[in-house]
Amino acid sequence: ERMISSELQEVDTSIELSLRPSTLAQYIGQHKAKENLAIFIEAARLRHEPLDHVLLYGPPGLGKTTMASIIANEMGVQFRTTSGPAIERAGDLAAILSSLEAGDVLFIDEIHRLPRSVEEILYPAMEDFCLDIVIGNGSSARSVRLDLPPFTLVGATTRAGLLTAPLRDRFGVLSRLEFYETNDLCEIVERTATIFEVTIEKQAAVEIARRSRGTPRIANRLLKRVRDISQVRGETEITLETTKEALKMLQVDQSGLDHIDHKLLKGIIDAFQGGPVGLDTLAATIGEESQTIEDVYEPFLLQMGFIQRTPRGRLATAKAYQHLNREVPNS
Ligand code: ADP
Repeated sequence: ERMISSELQEVDTSIELSLRPSTLAQYIGQHKAKENLAIFIEAARLRHEPLDHVLLYGPPGLGKTTMASIIANEMGVQFRTTSGPAIERAGDLAAILSSLEAGDVLFIDEIHRLPRSVEEILYPAMEDFCLDIVIGNGSSARSVRLDLPPFTLVGATTRAGLLTAPLRDRFGVLSRLEFYETNDLCEIVERTATIFEVTIEKQAAVEIARRSRGTPRIANRLLKRVRDISQVRGETEITLETTKEALKMLQVDQSGLDHIDHKLLKGIIDAFQGGPVGLDTLAATIGEESQTIEDVYEPFLLQMGFIQRTPRGRLATAKAYQHLNREVPNS
């Protein structure tokens, strides 16, 4: 599997739970989102009301699920989780909603993937805390309205633009998570090392942070692999040297790019003379899904300035040519 994929992998699930911070104060970085949420949480607590519905958006692995669980913890309520693809029928969601207790946080990951018929159940639930259900069929069908306890929906999605307008409009708080700065990631690596009960040289933590694509999930995963190699070598502290060698073995380059990023950049440069090339054409050329490129690989490459999005497609920048040791074409 792709070492630096920001998507959740099997190996992450057990350790991620133990690494998850449980309070806003423990949540590193994302200062803007944290500051905003702290105010809304405080205000809701003072009013003894549930928090307004919150939409968290941003690339995978940046801490949306973590933030949602912190919201529940800070509000002192239960945290219930599900995901868009897991809810197939309107009845499934109705069952979840009617089992909530007053104030609960219901987290729906990948909320943009809810089927439309299910999404429609959410509108009155979010707005008026009620369920409209149809009983019977044909001419004897009638609609009944059931009251729900007041609750907070926290939705997560990679891009806010993937949501339909009526759903997006029903969130009172929209919060975008950004890629992390190296110093924040470094703090996350050091915190994780403490939980793993290993010591790590400052420079080694910085190195991992720099190569983690601004993403805590990747930073934690790289640390885990580097720790394994360091332990096999019998080190009492994870050193910079071992870290660099381990990252080389894992094929993670200086900027945190791996073979798929390289394939993507080389695809644009070699097959399309640097672009512009349309997303679907590029996806077909390198054998990846368009949606995965757009949600998982591309955001970081854009942020780092390796590619640009234009109305006619993706362009490789001079920085991309230089990164791959290619001669920059004259324009
Ligand atoms: P997402 O839901 O956006 O895909 P998660 O909330 O599952 O991301 O975060 C992935 C992992 O990264 C978590 O298990 C947690 O250990 C770590 N993490 C994320 N954000 C932070 C943070 N701000 N501080 C410390 N650890 C974090």
